[in-house]
Amino acid sequence: VSDDAAALEKSLAEKGVKYLMASFVDMHGVSKTKIVPLSHINQMLQGSELYTGAALDGVPQDVSDEEVSACPDPDSAVVLPWQPDVAWFASDLWCEAKPFEPCSRNILKRQLQAALDLGYVMKFGMEAEFFVFKDADGGGFAPLSPLPHLDKPAYDATRLLDNLPWISDLVSAMNGLGWGVYSFDHEDGIGQFEIDFNYADALTMADRFVFFRFMANSIARRHGAFATFMPKPLGDRAGSGAHFNISLADADSDANLFAGPADARGNKLSELGYYFLGGVLRHVPAICAVCSPMVNSYKRLIKQGSMSGFTWAPVFACYGNNNRTNSLRIPLAGGRVELRPADSACNPYLGAALVLAAGLEGIREKLDPGEPYRENMYRKSPEELEALGVKLLPRTLEEAVDAFEDDRLTLDVFGPAMHEAWIDFKREEWSSYHNHVSDWERERYLKFF
Ligand code: GLU
Ligand code: MG
Ligand code: MG
Repeated sequence: VSDDAAALEKSLAEKGVKYLMASFVDMHGVSKTKIVPLSHINQMLQGSELYTGAALDGVPQDVSDEEVSACPDPDSAVVLPWQPDVAWFASDLWCEAKPFEPCSRNILKRQLQAALDLGYVMKFGMEAEFFVFKDADGGGFAPLSPLPHLDKPAYDATRLLDNLPWISDLVSAMNGLGWGVYSFDHEDGIGQFEIDFNYADALTMADRFVFFRFMANSIARRHGAFATFMPKPLGDRAGSGAHFNISLADADSDANLFAGPADARGNKLSELGYYFLGGVLRHVPAICAVCSPMVNSYKRLIKQGSMSGFTWAPVFACYGNNNRTNSLRIPLAGGRVELRPADSACNPYLGAALVLAAGLEGIREKLDPGEPYRENMYRKSPEELEALGVKLLPRTLEEAVDAFEDDRLTLDVFGPAMHEAWIDFKREEWSSYHNHVSDWERERYLKFF
């Protein structure tokens, strides 16, 4: 038993831990695991847990291939706040004694290394929006706090307090893990919430977001409910974004390299920050395929159709200052860039990897994104947008996957096996949706003539 494993075993035993999860993610960013008893910690940390990749979505393996092994990252260990006899670890996948190229966590690590080679460390915050519902009697689902119809439930105080029992459990759990929750609210959908917590280095934040979805749902279930990260569960309400807030820090001093004084464009962003933004803007259609990964994601990326007016979701591939109608926003405080298309269903490793690669390309090529859009872009007519040269984001998953496939950066970032697996899976997802004949169609067309 190595010294480190022995020390970790001791500290976990003192906390009452009996079981360990050697967890990793599939292509969707869903945590997958086996559980081992604490006494096997040494073997587990050395990759004893083997998995048949072919059993999982987007782990491009054949049934006859060698199994992948999960190598847990000891720094990622967390004791499950709602079930303290179990500890969870984020793992990298290995195969045939090498890091497994299509593993999501390895894909992000490769880009983080590319950034480090240039002297940068990516800092990353994700604003998690999600809905909490309970199963309704007689089928369907309902919010936990059924209040009279509200056109604008955003920031609603009564609903927030009604939901406090489970939110408080979740927030205490997050803060117990040292995540630094600083605010939470009721959002613009019925039963929709956002819990904001501190940013961290990108790998830590991606691990946390994967764990967050698992934890929020586990805690909601203890309150007779469930958390959904489906991007747009209610057609007439806002959907769930998971905006990416990104900056680069100096690898030696940790200084924020995106911080800058107020500039002529009305922002506080450094030249490096603008170049990064220029790269992300160039690749934003392909980024959508990864950060807005579901058929349903594109029902969120619309400007209206909500009872409560605007959706606050991005529709156009453009950037602005503190203006939520752009895909990329520079918040008032400056020093970071917010990517708004990203939704709560994204695989944060893959999303962060592609965005970082795009930003680094912008830095290498000194790509100036031009002037920011300061006005409400939702109000621009198609003619005005055309005159400005502002393009729409992909309108469907199919358009996004086309953009992903056409963008050579995606192959560099994902590597050939994951690139192909991603495209195949997403094309199948699209055609399964497209070929389905829905109630809407029958209602509209069955007795049309
Ligand atoms: N729910 C909105 C979205 O889908 C974001 C609202 C906000 O800016 O907090 O992106
Ligand atoms: Mg929000
Ligand atoms: Mg935001």
